[in-house]
Amino acid sequence: MVNIKYAKDSFTLGENRSVLDCLTEHGVPIPFSCRSGVCQTCLMRATGGSPPEAAQQGLKDTLKLQNYFLACVCHPTEDLEVALPDDAQAAIPATVKKLELLNEEIMRVMLECHAPIQYKAGQFINLFRNRSLGRSYSLASVPHEDDHLHIHVRRLPNGRVSGWIHEELRPDQTVEVRGPAGDCFYVPGNPEQGLILIGTGSGLAPLYGIIRDALRQGHNGAIRLFHGSRDQRGLYLVGELRELMKQYANFDYVPCLSGSDVPHGFAAGRAHEVALKEVPNLKDWRLFLCGHPEMVKQAKKKAFLAGAAMKDIYADAFNVSQSG
Ligand SMILES: Cc1cc2nc3c(=O)[nH]c(=O)nc-3n(C[C@H](O)[C@H](O)[C@H](O)COP(=O)(O)OP(=O)(O)OC[C@H]3O[C@@H](n4cnc5c(N)ncnc54)[C@H](O)[C@@H]3O)c2cc1C
Repeated sequence: MVNIKYAKDSFTLGENRSVLDCLTEHGVPIPFSCRSGVCQTCLMRATGGSPPEAAQQGLKDTLKLQNYFLACVCHPTEDLEVALPDDAQAAIPATVKKLELLNEEIMRVMLECHAPIQYKAGQFINLFRNRSLGRSYSLASVPHEDDHLHIHVRRLPNGRVSGWIHEELRPDQTVEVRGPAGDCFYVPGNPEQGLILIGTGSGLAPLYGIIRDALRQGHNGAIRLFHGSRDQRGLYLVGELRELMKQYANFDYVPCLSGSDVPHGFAAGRAHEVALKEVPNLKDWRLFLCGHPEMVKQAKKKAFLAGAAMKDIYADAFNVSQSG
């Protein structure tokens, strides 16, 4: 029998239950979102006992050494005493510098962190509405190029964090962020390799960062962006991306529309299908796939079947919490 001790309480861990399941089933308000060890919202710290290695995957070494772990994938075989992260170590306050609607449902939020944060364009941060409610947002900004962190937040109907960001968050307000995390970013080396970036909706955020980062670092192979939405209203940064295309001969932007109205200058179809039609053989290409989880899953499978090596496929599925 394994016991999980939290504050003054001790709970028995049920069979096949994670530490997160155990605590939330007993009414402990632990923040969580993806429930699959990706988003890192449920970061906790073992103050007694050692968390299993599998619960520390993807964490920075500094966090691992301090016994931080992800509660949603933590299945300990020994008793564990746990606590929410020590804010001084894990969270950074950040001031909202600017909020800007990029289309009807996507807001760009610019944040100034109160302490330096080392990140790569395309990674994600966790932004907290309060201590027990946080969500992941990908970084569209490029270190050394943009002064602040930029995120693109799509408003979901009744979305607890995205709705709050759109409706209540204001410039000069301070929020808490954690991170960065994730491995969907541009790695220098092999500058002639072709890059294909496919995104839907706010999945453009990490891709916009990755493209500008790659160009900044002198990538000279083809860089092809396919951004998809149902209709034109769902696309954004169209002017900026067309401008970038004029500046860099190796960059190409294809806005894709999956609805029935497809004006001149737009490709008809889902972004990943248009991409695969234009580049049917993906051998030796590097791919970045971000946005709707179903698109990411399908695109990954199709890219692999079209010859892309798994090591060359970088992906972030924007999984949405069902109840967290
Ligand atoms: C690694 C990672 C990176 C991410 N990056 C971004 C990013 O850059 N930008 C961004 O906007 N989001 C991003 N997300 C998603 C984000 O973390 C949140 O899940 C999202 O903002 C919703 O949170 P919420 O609290 O507003 O919604 P919640 O309160 O959690 O509610 C979501 C509800 O909406 C429902 N729902 C799900 N999809 C839809 C839909 N398409 N239409 C209508 N309802 C729906 C769900 O069933 C659920 O009930 C990312 C997620 C991950 C895991």
